Amino acid sequence: MSAPALLEVLNLEAAYGPIKAVRGVSLAVPEGRIATVLGPNGAGKTTLLKTLSGINDPRRGSVRFAGAEIGGHDPAEIVRRGLVQVPEGREVFPLLSVRENLLMGAYTRGDRDAVARDIEQVQAYFPILKERAAQAAGLLSGGQQQMLAIARALMAAPRMILLDEPSLGLSPKLTQEIFAIIRRINRERGTTLLLVEQNAHLALDLADLGFILENGRIVVEGPCAELRERADIQEFYLGLQ
Ligand code: ATP
Repeated sequence: MSAPALLEVLNLEAAYGPIKAVRGVSLAVPEGRIATVLGPNGAGKTTLLKTLSGINDPRRGSVRFAGAEIGGHDPAEIVRRGLVQVPEGREVFPLLSVRENLLMGAYTRGDRDAVARDIEQVQAYFPILKERAAQAAGLLSGGQQQMLAIARALMAAPRMILLDEPSLGLSPKLTQEIFAIIRRINRERGTTLLLVEQNAHLALDLADLGFILENGRIVVEGPCAELRERADIQEFYLGLQ
């Protein structure tokens, strides 16, 4: 039997007024795995993540995390339960220092000693954030801000991280670097990940299971090893053939 799902989404719908962005999505991500959601612009990927993390309210359907319903719950409560989103475009606090940004990630936690220890651990993944700890986050490069956004999410001690387009605007080299760190976080901490990505090559190499979202619906899903071999996915998502 496969591992029980940490995240289980059933018939989820989300909309902006009359615009139905997510139209009945069901998916499950087992604990400790990496999943990816691929799809064209406007398919509803960002809306899906925002609805899972409580930023958007669902119209219908259910989001279960670690066995409890969280659909429509307050984002801070969802973070406390262990589900944290890294938003598209990073959204660090530009005037706060790098260290202060990291501390903001731990705002739901009470144990200051554990938070101080975690800053050390998180900085071990991203040594540049230690070097730049006192600098304003807005002065970091785009890649460094992406690292800070991931590191800040780790500061919440999450069981699962939702990552929206981590490669957006980054060079291929920096993207490789960030993907290698994401893999390490998954292997070393057992953190479950759900990743939305435009770079289908990298995402299908990194993730265990993939979901293709088109026009608000999942049209294909399966193990990434199988998806990579499918002619239609090679043609439309991997630019092969
Ligand atoms: P991209 O890859 O371009 O970020 P996406 O797959 O993440 O696209 P969403 O951003 O979730 O897609 O958008 C899904 C649909 O919802 C699109 O039709 C989009 O125009 C619409 N939409 C997204 N955000 C809003 C908003 N704040 N108000 C109204 N409509 C929105």
